[in-house]
Amino acid sequence: MTASVQRLLEDEPATMALGSELAAAGRGLPRQIVYLHGDLGAGKTTLVRGMLRALGHAGIVRSPTYTLLEPYDLADRGCLHLDLYRLADAGELDYIGLRELLSGPVLVLVEWPERGLGALPEPDLSITLSYRGTGREAVLEASSDVGARLLESLPG
Ligand code: ADP
Ligand code: MG
Repeated sequence: MTASVQRLLEDEPATMALGSELAAAGRGLPRQIVYLHGDLGAGKTTLVRGMLRALGHAGIVRSPTYTLLEPYDLADRGCLHLDLYRLADAGELDYIGLRELLSGPVLVLVEWPERGLGALPEPDLSITLSYRGTGREAVLEASSDVGARLLESLPG
């Protein structure tokens, strides 16, 4: 079982490409909860953009810093992109009806998940992005069978 994968991402297109690889790896895995860790500017939203584009979303992907949540209708399932940077209290997530939105096949991508702990489902995959020179490093860690299958399906 692949528990963890590390990648160097030299530039923004490399981050987008990892997003598209994750999208391909997740085909046939209807429900995926992905936590995205990393400082401001580390590339979390860029990775989400890469995934959504590869999953057929043609429009823009804006960071839901103020709205907390941006829903997307993908071909075969829904997607929720959360950015909890400005969340003061994890209990606020109850007000946006997160629990109801999480039923059924859904891809959930959460930036700043540490701010919503207790109100979020457990992750299948946790991705940590860090600055490395002018690029970034991504560490991907699986914490469920779904997460392990995602990592196993990534190209080497
Ligand atoms: P976050 O959501 O983590 O705050 P963003 O995805 O908004 O970060 O990205 C911040 C900036 O980093 C963007 O200008 C983006 O182009 C750039 N970026 C993304 N990935 C890389 C990379 N691998 N190397 C260099 N710059 C990157
Ligand atoms: Mg962001």
